[in-house]
Amino acid sequence: MATAAVAAKDDATHVDVLIVGAGISGIGSAYHLQEQCPGKSYVVLERMDTFGGTWETHKYPGVRSDSDLYTFGYRFKPWVGTPIASAQAILDYMGEVIDENGIAPHIRYGHTITRAAWDSAANLWTVEATRKSDGASVTFTANFLWMCQGYYDHEKPYTPDWPGMDQYKGQFIHAQLWDPKIDYTGKRILVIGSGATAATVIPAFAEKAAHVTMLQRSPTYFYCSENRNELADKLRAGGIDEPTIHRVVRAQIMHDQDVMTKRCIEEPDTVFEELKMLVRAFTGKEDFPFEPHFTPKYRPWQQRLAFCPEGDIFRGVVEGKVSAVTDELETFTEKGVRTKGGTEIEADIIVAATGFNLLMMGGIPFYVDGQEVDWHDTVNYRGMMFTGVPNMVWVMGYFRASWTLRVDMLGDFVCNLLNHMDKKHAKRVEVALRDEDQGMALSDWIESENFNPGYLMRGLKKMPKRGDKPEWRHNQDYWAERDEIPNTDLEGSEFLYDGVRAGKKVAEPA
Ligand SMILES: Cc1cc2nc3c(=O)[nH]c(=O)nc-3n(C[C@H](O)[C@H](O)[C@H](O)COP(=O)(O)OP(=O)(O)OC[C@H]3O[C@@H](n4cnc5c(N)ncnc54)[C@H](O)[C@@H]3O)c2cc1C
Repeated sequence: MATAAVAAKDDATHVDVLIVGAGISGIGSAYHLQEQCPGKSYVVLERMDTFGGTWETHKYPGVRSDSDLYTFGYRFKPWVGTPIASAQAILDYMGEVIDENGIAPHIRYGHTITRAAWDSAANLWTVEATRKSDGASVTFTANFLWMCQGYYDHEKPYTPDWPGMDQYKGQFIHAQLWDPKIDYTGKRILVIGSGATAATVIPAFAEKAAHVTMLQRSPTYFYCSENRNELADKLRAGGIDEPTIHRVVRAQIMHDQDVMTKRCIEEPDTVFEELKMLVRAFTGKEDFPFEPHFTPKYRPWQQRLAFCPEGDIFRGVVEGKVSAVTDELETFTEKGVRTKGGTEIEADIIVAATGFNLLMMGGIPFYVDGQEVDWHDTVNYRGMMFTGVPNMVWVMGYFRASWTLRVDMLGDFVCNLLNHMDKKHAKRVEVALRDEDQGMALSDWIESENFNPGYLMRGLKKMPKRGDKPEWRHNQDYWAERDEIPNTDLEGSEFLYDGVRAGKKVAEPA
């Protein structure tokens, strides 16, 4: 629905750059802005009362990263803990980044953004937010918006509408809404789902629960490993300084991941055999039964590999604390659930680990010159800018590599772009299809053959479109992008500055 552009109020706080969200993306972006564009004023608006985003929202037992913190940590701050880290360790790390770099005074917590409107006449964003402390509506204006709001609804996770839920007499909760006060000691727990959350929560529950059952529609690949990095340990023992360790270990992990990704595509069966060998090694059970519950139907890496430190979930299975049922849920019952195959599972607590609801741009309605933006009508430039939406970059990280690798990479990109605009005295930048892009086939944002998690597949119509050229795709390939994005020609003809297409040479006088 179109509405008239709302002019900024006179008392609006003005900044050069407004960063949305104080999660790992927003804090990293603030750091890069300070470092690389020291003259720019900025503010970070955050809905919650503290920083952390994902790592603050999730409180279920055992919540931890599933990628290593050498790459999930920022490139500029060495990680010194175990590679797989608890939510608390990640929050502590982010807290140090904020303190060490004086970022705190720039963050406004308890500010939920409710509207963002671009006005081309003024080359200005007007951002409205509701302030939690007094419910007041406050207005900010900014030359540039840096969207670091994440990709899912922090308040409403995805729970399928299962039949019979009202019959169930036990306690039902989605993992994303888990309350740490819930006492599950000695309880029978059913976890519905088999992704990364299930992989985390099941072994943690198994420590105190009577039994944990995992009900999955289809199996997941698990990668079992010790929670240590051998190279980091060796370098530390050799007295090497932490910044060097961080750099070297990141490089080694990224190389190993690149090799692994390629192998998953080229020789998926061999990779699966290796993953099974790891399970056997960690459980000490040569005849560990992989059929039917631990033999996935898709290629390894088409969805995230679930990390399994010390083979914990499989050890739970061998010890009889954890069992799996691979079937579809038919209905909830008074005592638990019944599957389509007729298996009755009784449980005192049922935990849905069924994932997210995609939330495009933090649910903020966007307007450009009074016209509401429908993201599905836009074409996405390298997974970061949108046709028809000026002075805005969106941080969407990687799903297969650590998200934060892209936060650092886009941090450099945005700062280069801002500095380039300053040099050109340009007030506005946007992307537009080039002559050679006319007639280009446009498709849904995600290449589902390549990567297809449920929340993205369910949310495709809310997402922008992609083209079939590298400039118009987010290819989820860190190893290609680390060469391409830093070498972006900011005078390429996909960029328009103050409405004039870049790259057009002014004819020399004859
Ligand atoms: C349990 C779990 C484990 C994960 N583990 C990994 C991992 O190991 N490796 C990996 O690469 N990825 C992992 N991910 C993906 C993870 O979400 C991202 O890696 C990363 O944390 C996202 O950070 P972000 O700052 O972009 O978004 P978020 O963490 O979602 O933070 C966004 C922030 O923006 C704020 N915000 C949103 N909308 C508004 C609004 N309208 N107004 C004001 N503020 C707003 C939110 O409150 C939030 O604080 C994991 C995800 C989950 C849920």
